[in-house]
Amino acid sequence: MSKVSGVKGMNDILPGDVEVWQHVERTARELFGRFGYGEVRTPMVEDTALFVRSVGETTDIVGKEMYTFEDKGGRSLSLRPEGTAPAARAYIEHSILNQEPITRWFYMGPMFRYERMKTGRYRQFHQIGAEGYGSKEPAQDVEMMDMVVQLLQKLGLTDVSLNINSLGDDACRPGYQNRLVEYLRAHSSELCADCQVRLEKNPLRVLDCKNERCQQIANAAPNITESLCEPCRAHFAEVQRKLDVLGIKYVVNSRIMRGLDYYTRTTFEFIASHPALGTASTVGGGGRYDKLVKSLGGPDVPAVGFGLGLDRLCLLLKESGQQFSPPVDLFIAAADEGSADVAFGLVSRMRREGLRVEFDTRGGSLKSQMKRADKTGARFTLVLGQNERESGQAQLKPMAGGDAIPVRLEDLASTVREALARPSAPPAS
Ligand SMILES: [Zn+2]
Ligand SMILES: [Zn+2]
Repeated sequence: MSKVSGVKGMNDILPGDVEVWQHVERTARELFGRFGYGEVRTPMVEDTALFVRSVGETTDIVGKEMYTFEDKGGRSLSLRPEGTAPAARAYIEHSILNQEPITRWFYMGPMFRYERMKTGRYRQFHQIGAEGYGSKEPAQDVEMMDMVVQLLQKLGLTDVSLNINSLGDDACRPGYQNRLVEYLRAHSSELCADCQVRLEKNPLRVLDCKNERCQQIANAAPNITESLCEPCRAHFAEVQRKLDVLGIKYVVNSRIMRGLDYYTRTTFEFIASHPALGTASTVGGGGRYDKLVKSLGGPDVPAVGFGLGLDRLCLLLKESGQQFSPPVDLFIAAADEGSADVAFGLVSRMRREGLRVEFDTRGGSLKSQMKRADKTGARFTLVLGQNERESGQAQLKPMAGGDAIPVRLEDLASTVREALARPSAPPAS
């Protein structure tokens, strides 16, 4: 029979790797909880119009990369390409503003984009994100950045730099846009085909084009932070002052556009320098989107959020060589057929007592069971035979070598726990 393969760009995450993912997810959940953020879980599929109206029709995401399909009822649905619009939709639909003036949410889960694939970039990718609704103040922006900084620190990912920018607002962005278009028109013949279109429809997008020549042209373009109106300039200055208050290092980088239409004022990116990521060095970012909720039919409420690429974070963490799989505490082997049931019962009891215990469900010779014990990397083994059954006494053997510890089967769990807690306990292999 021919083999069925997984979908290109959509990966299986197997045991051995999944522990890294769980570690990141657990760390984020715990930390975001400390900041007062509650987890929101929205469906993976939304009305296509949600993304067209929020992310923007002229963005690559909506224009080229969405998985859009018609369901059996003839509705146009899309797999979510990002998490901010679905969260905003839920925020509006559940009238959250009527319940509280400030809302802090986080989410984690898969997103889908039909992208060209490169390192750490997949068609099903995973994000951890957060959204804060109800505050237009720079403290809210900086709280978000602080949360990411603390997460990266807790994960031991220190080689990441925070880049910030301001995209202005309705008062100052149009003027900047005009100047930008004027500049870009003078170079339009050198721009890539996509940017020729962007120049007319969404000129800011040209600034974050990946094309090398476009980047060179963008480097010499007028700088947006020099075109901000007074309120936007003051807001951006206060963001920087509050980052200083927290002692968070940052770089002002006027090229941080974030590729989505809904951003206003602050945008930020966390950029890692690690060879494992190749050119895909942005591990996450976000910004302020004060107009989005209203544009989706909700109240006029300011908001700011970020998204982090879980795939890339996990890739970096794996490279760091840290160990995330908890070791097996104990392997129990039966020396003979007659001891199999007692051993089986003991395994079940020890697991109930909270130990990580393995045995060989296939039974077999003691030699083959011990081979299996080696494979599991168990820290201790215990062999159960007729003697042990009758006397209720056995030997706890450290797999890394050293003296066996005599143990009463009755006290097995507490003895293993004590042995594991000793400074001389055998290390996990
Ligand atoms: Zn381009
Ligand atoms: Zn402005």
